[in-house]
Amino acid sequence: DGPLLAVDDLHVEFATRQGVVKAVNGVSYSLNPGETLAVLGESGSGKSVTAQAIMGILDMPPARIPRGEIRFRGTDLLRLPEDQRAQVRGQRISMIFQDALSALNPVFTVGWQISEMFRVHRGMSRRDATKKAIELMDRVRIPAARQRVNDYPHQFSGGMRQRIMIAMAIALDPEVLIADEPTTALDVTVQAQIMELLAELQRESNMGLILITHDLGVVADVADKIAVMYGGRIVENALVHDIYRSPAHPYTKGLLDSIPRVDLKGQELYAIKGMPPNLLDMPQGCAFHPRCPYRQDNCVTDAPPLYEIGPTRGSACHYWREVFDDSRR
Ligand code: SF4
Ligand code: MG
Repeated sequence: DGPLLAVDDLHVEFATRQGVVKAVNGVSYSLNPGETLAVLGESGSGKSVTAQAIMGILDMPPARIPRGEIRFRGTDLLRLPEDQRAQVRGQRISMIFQDALSALNPVFTVGWQISEMFRVHRGMSRRDATKKAIELMDRVRIPAARQRVNDYPHQFSGGMRQRIMIAMAIALDPEVLIADEPTTALDVTVQAQIMELLAELQRESNMGLILITHDLGVVADVADKIAVMYGGRIVENALVHDIYRSPAHPYTKGLLDSIPRVDLKGQELYAIKGMPPNLLDMPQGCAFHPRCPYRQDNCVTDAPPLYEIGPTRGSACHYWREVFDDSRR
């Protein structure tokens, strides 16, 4: 019966004044119930655009999807009429964003905003919907939910606002939750608490979770598997413990080497040299070659395919074996 969600050879382009930007260039990944996939990459790597395509919230035009499928329980969402798509969006697949303050409406109480989900989609009375809103605020661990249900977004801290966003996103028991940089705007302690909350909610509900981040440090404890994106492509995918033990792509290795490790004192942190690629003027061959310490002559001309290097692993590097052997920890 296949995975819960499968992105298959997805391509997304944007028409811009300077030309066509290929933001997503043949991305495939899949997600099962109860599973957490971390999608990792710098800004502009295509990770958010892929998520927006799954949600069906890309502005088309200027965006265009020339190729690919997004199958949700076997149905290609890209070929679904808009009214059926709207039934999926926010209900069966929902999303939380980095900036909770701008996603919440400042003129309505948080209780009103959460309970509206139940009034609109479940036809509940105001009283019942408010009760459900308080339950949800409890569930996402907002202290004194019964008192705070009538407060406005600005009366909450950034971390609490993100909890309110999470409450709204899980209100209708989605099968897939996409979290796009959900903790980037928060301080480190609060980040950890939010990640813990997401993991806990996921365990309770068995939903599939897609965690989009530029920070490899935040996903280690919660993700089952990782897809690393660079320049609109997946450059490495693997189970999370495999990737931490021995990355098989120079970009992933660079990301790992730039995370501070508690077990190494006085270490010098590594930083990947150079800039992310310009999507309007992608390097020939391997897109990572201008920054790659493993580069050989053929990298400049031959774009590597995503080599299958194990039953659950792929690397888009001609020299993945060298990287793998070098990086075994
Ligand atoms: Fe580096 Fe070549 Fe591998 Fe690209 S294919 S990541 S340039 S070694
Ligand atoms: Mg983004």
